[in-house]
Amino acid sequence: MILTLLLVANTLTYDVLISAGHEGRPARCARFPKHHCNLGAAGERYWTPIVADAATAILRKHGVTVARLPADFEGNYKVDAAVFIHFDGASPPCSSAASIGYAKKSDAVVANAWRKLYGSYWPFGFEPDNFTVGLREYYAYKQVEARDAAMVIELGELTCPAQHAWLGHKLQWEGELLAYFLSRLIGRGGVPNPAPFTSRSQTPRQYPPRQTPVLARSGCNRCPMEALGQDIGDAPRMLAKLPRSEWIMHRSFLTQDALRSGLLRRLLCGLFAGGDPLS
Ligand SMILES: [Zn+2]
Repeated sequence: MILTLLLVANTLTYDVLISAGHEGRPARCARFPKHHCNLGAAGERYWTPIVADAATAILRKHGVTVARLPADFEGNYKVDAAVFIHFDGASPPCSSAASIGYAKKSDAVVANAWRKLYGSYWPFGFEPDNFTVGLREYYAYKQVEARDAAMVIELGELTCPAQHAWLGHKLQWEGELLAYFLSRLIGRGGVPNPAPFTSRSQTPRQYPPRQTPVLARSGCNRCPMEALGQDIGDAPRMLAKLPRSEWIMHRSFLTQDALRSGLLRRLLCGLFAGGDPLS
């Protein structure tokens, strides 16, 4: 009985949960030692909060309650819908696109509806649903009970210059489109469908410049790592376990942050020195 009460007390109820991927890292990583402190694709941490804030503001304006959360959060949530906003990184660049992840097979219908809506504007296509482990087994799914759907939404590949350019001025609009989608999904708020983005209808905004993924050694300048978003301290262990084809699948880059680990850099470069298929 006491346990039940405690569990109930620890569950927060909202209409919608919106989490900005990688937001709050690495500063808050120490509070969540069981989470891998994945910092995302270069520039991703700057963009996910912009989209999340835009969607949240619109939904709240229409009376929808929103739990607006960073990447890592405590407690459990009971909501109608949850979205975890991300952008992707890929190696080689432009080998990926937008994508959707979810844990419950029944969420495929909702994923399909998002693909249809976003795909009517987004010109670069989608990867298959759940095409990475990170999408299929996203760490925060277990903290959320969602009536309609809980999905990781990858809005596009930041490492692809064409996709980056398309997205760069549309982050506010992306949030508006997401708010419209969520409002319709849960049947609350009546958020209107934003008009298609045009440079006339919205003032272009300058977002922080893209950080170029780097690796310190020539011949090793696009080592894919942060495998599956593992903490950088886990990287040698992860690498030892993964076949090279898997690293390519995970489609992430080493970031400047990650490269602070000299050991990891040496290990990676050593591994790739024997003929890096990605360089
Ligand atoms: Zn991400």
